[in-house]
Amino acid sequence: MTDPDFAWHRQHGLKPLINVAGTMTGLGASITTPSVAAATAAAMGNFVSIHEAQRLASTVIREATGAEAGFLTASASAGITLSVAACMTGHDPARVEALPHDPGFRDEVILQAGHLCGYGSSLEQTVRLTGARVRRVGQSTLCMDHHITGALSERTAAAVYVISHHVVHYGQCPLDRYIDLAHTSGIPVVVDAASEYDLRGFLALGADLVVYSGHKFLGGPTSGIIAGRRDLVRSAYLQNMGIGRGMKIGKESIFGAIAALQEWQGRDHAAIRRAEGAALAMWKDALADLRGIRARAVPDPTGNPLSRLQVEIDAKTFGVDAATVARILSEHNPAIIVRNHTVELGFFQLDPCNLQPGQDRIVAKALHSILSQPNTFESRPSDRDVGRNDSVNACMEW
Ligand SMILES: *Cc1c(COP(=O)(O)O)cnc(C)c1O
Repeated sequence: MTDPDFAWHRQHGLKPLINVAGTMTGLGASITTPSVAAATAAAMGNFVSIHEAQRLASTVIREATGAEAGFLTASASAGITLSVAACMTGHDPARVEALPHDPGFRDEVILQAGHLCGYGSSLEQTVRLTGARVRRVGQSTLCMDHHITGALSERTAAAVYVISHHVVHYGQCPLDRYIDLAHTSGIPVVVDAASEYDLRGFLALGADLVVYSGHKFLGGPTSGIIAGRRDLVRSAYLQNMGIGRGMKIGKESIFGAIAALQEWQGRDHAAIRRAEGAALAMWKDALADLRGIRARAVPDPTGNPLSRLQVEIDAKTFGVDAATVARILSEHNPAIIVRNHTVELGFFQLDPCNLQPGQDRIVAKALHSILSQPNTFESRPSDRDVGRNDSVNACMEW
């Protein structure tokens, strides 16, 4: 799969790029291994009963997660919508067909205010697609037990919980407590774990449905995994007759995701972590003698076994700020796309999880040669908005 000369990009007239941002939809999410790509290609040449393929996926999801059952859909975002819909409709196909216009009596979903995040679109809208209303509980940085218990009622369909670097990381109710409080009122808990490596822990804590992306760390084709309680998985799957139709997954992605899940369990995670650590060390060295720049490895905020290199830029000493540096790196050939959500705080991160062989060195060389000449950089007012408005701007380009 590796393409050190970016031949594929050139063939299509596309700009070569190296992704040190992470598993970003806007960059093509992740790279599949040759065997996952082959599983996808093999499916393209065959007909299959999709229900049979999904039952096979369920077996693989059970093995990987410890869930009672599971199935695959278009994305984690779709998985959240379908999971919430499942908690609203039960097994009644008439109610499935009535969404989103007629959500029925159980039409509320509780979510902590600090979890109302976005990931390219808003979680709240992802839930509202079902017709449910989001009832936010607590304040952005504080959710007490009574906020949760006070919001639960006979109208509550589900309690959604997000595990992610995108959410507020203090003052939130821990997942085990959230599950206890919801279950005491008989409310199922849906966990958005789209970007998490831990395929078993949240279900083991008692979550009723857990949703993962197939195309993030798993390196599968674009897909979402729903795993959990059999009765709820069945209701969620039933949504394919309703609002789930536009979120459908095809045979190619089903077989690609199955292969990715199987491969994940046999992957040499320790060796991958060593290679990622070596890349971080190489980049740190490349930046070591630059005035105004400090680089240090920081662990993933949700405990995924992954560290990133945080590059902190003292704009006064260095001459330009982190936002301008991120933009200059993106204008290099190949473009070096950094993790830029925090540039306004004076730093960005380099994420090694999507590196292809040899790219660690290209990035190190580019970092050193580009950042050695800050006096040639020109700040632009728009640099401030890198990572904030760029998705809207990109949509306006044609
Ligand atoms: C990426 C992400 C999603 C969306 O995942 P897709 O599979 O791309 O739809 C949802 N929630 C969180 C926390 C994410 O990080």
